[in-house]
Amino acid sequence: MKKYRIDLYSDTQTRPTDEMRKVIASADVGDEQMSEDPVVNALIDKVRDLLGVEDAVFLPSGTMANEIAVLVHCRQGDEVLAHGSSHVINFEGGGPAAFAGVMFRHLPGDRGLFDAKALSEAIRPYNRYFARQRLVVVEQTANLGGGTVWPLKQMREVVAVARDADLAVHLDGARLMNAVVAAKCKASDFAAQFDTIFLDFTKGLGAPLGAVLAGKKQFIDDAWRWKQRMGGALRQAGMMAAACIYALDNHVERLAEDHANAKILVNALSKLDGVTLQPVDTNLVYFDVKETGMNAYQFNDALALHGVRVSIVDETTLRAVTHLDTPRALVEEAAEIMVQVLSKAKARCSG
Ligand SMILES: *Cc1c(COP(=O)(O)O)cnc(C)c1O
Repeated sequence: MKKYRIDLYSDTQTRPTDEMRKVIASADVGDEQMSEDPVVNALIDKVRDLLGVEDAVFLPSGTMANEIAVLVHCRQGDEVLAHGSSHVINFEGGGPAAFAGVMFRHLPGDRGLFDAKALSEAIRPYNRYFARQRLVVVEQTANLGGGTVWPLKQMREVVAVARDADLAVHLDGARLMNAVVAAKCKASDFAAQFDTIFLDFTKGLGAPLGAVLAGKKQFIDDAWRWKQRMGGALRQAGMMAAACIYALDNHVERLAEDHANAKILVNALSKLDGVTLQPVDTNLVYFDVKETGMNAYQFNDALALHGVRVSIVDETTLRAVTHLDTPRALVEEAAEIMVQVLSKAKARCSG
């Protein structure tokens, strides 16, 4: 049973649909570790075409994909350049330091994006006093930035600067398909510029498990060794890969509904005094309640009483995420509840 009737905590809260459960139950399977699972192999082929890459490997999670990418690209003591708000720096348990022994340089920029100038300014000439700079990570969409879509042009400029400096480029594509739908681009337009890309199936795509890390054949051979070492090699994983294939076939275009539903929240919240919204490109809605008389914890608790869950980002900021399991009617209801709760807070303050 779900504790919350309307769960806007994250797009990871999706549950496999009845149709997805059917393909899971009927999947043909084999030993994934021996590359003998037919459905995992079919998923790899599909991702290869989708992203325009040579090869790919199926993994249990996006976090493992990022860890492995850093491990293959870098050696201990190397420096990775990424936006200061990026997932790989903030939400992976310090994995890149623990496993790969790398250090990070935080790049600045609005809404989770950085530009070619910010990257150029962070690149240092060769000097043995300096850490060896090795890898640039780009996050599409930029999660903490507000689900921001990197414009293709800005992405190309950043990749060009990185290539000029002999840096490898990795795309954290946890929500790449949200960007594809929002920008009406092909996934390969974004992905094919990068040395390595990961795609997550457990966010808006709605699968219960799975991510794919993609790149050149040699990179994937090396990634496989790390997958083995980390205990990520699987057995009859076709059941999960079947859900991922189903998601690519059926859950990509519908991401536009999530984006439209996010706009419903934006419209409701933007009419409220004291609420400050970050711009919203896709399905992640970040808003600040500082001026409403409530802090984020109080607002969160008040919503919970109405069966609505959001997530707390900091003392005054919250995040609401639309997804497969929050159809329009539920999002409209959540928007009304938010308006009610905040109007009451306002009345208490002025009364
Ligand atoms: C969720 C997320 C990840 C990690 O993916 P998991 O499958 O949850 O491990 C990586 N990067 C970004 C931007 C994410 O939002």
